[in-house]
Amino acid sequence: MPAPSETSEDISANLAAVRSRIENALKSAGRKPGSAGLIAVSKGQSEAAIASALTAGQREFGENRVQETQRKWPAFKRDHPDCVLHLIGPLQSNKAADAVALFDVIHSVDREKLAHALAAEMDRQNRRPKLLIQVNTGEEPQKAGVAPEETDALVSLCRDELKLPLIGLMCIPPVDEEPSLHFALLREIARRIDLPELSMGMSGDFEIAVQFGATMLRVGTAIFGARNV
Ligand SMILES: *Cc1c(COP(=O)(O)O)cnc(C)c1O
Repeated sequence: MPAPSETSEDISANLAAVRSRIENALKSAGRKPGSAGLIAVSKGQSEAAIASALTAGQREFGENRVQETQRKWPAFKRDHPDCVLHLIGPLQSNKAADAVALFDVIHSVDREKLAHALAAEMDRQNRRPKLLIQVNTGEEPQKAGVAPEETDALVSLCRDELKLPLIGLMCIPPVDEEPSLHFALLREIARRIDLPELSMGMSGDFEIAVQFGATMLRVGTAIFGARNV
């Protein structure tokens, strides 16, 4: 049996609870109120669920697939032009055109070929979504992301050579490891290369991510409940 879907009231209450947990975590970390943004991850969620989050005032959303976003989002974007759409899943170079057209922020830049494809599309479409480089902090072979020791070279290609709007780094810690080690590593790399945004922290660990300086939190199930993938 599929999990019962969250009602509009549930989603509104969940959003309020997550926002309040974020603010409390910021306060305990001695950080400024509002200094970590909440991205509601709506992959695998229904249009009704997204509509409820919009009604509750949420404006930043994360999706992990280009096609699913093309199907779900155009109407919402028309009705809410202030929505900010984040691509948090892996991106193939041959989908760069669609990604540049659809998204406002792309968190998953992880190789040279993709950086070049995005640069070409941004010129062609005269649209410049902001970019983050995904770092495979756990060096997991099956996972997307650039290896930590190759991050500097990719940053320098994106920022210095291609003049891309690079704003930060993103990571997804290995499921079975202490996330704080990975958050600390990402923060350290970002500091060294002077990138301000840190996209890290999900439903299970966003308060820890806040403690380690996260500025963009990607939270799905804690807001929307289980996904119907
Ligand atoms: C699905 C996903 C999330 C959200 O995960 P939850 O555990 O549902 O909060 C965050 N980041 C990425 C990259 C994801 O793919």
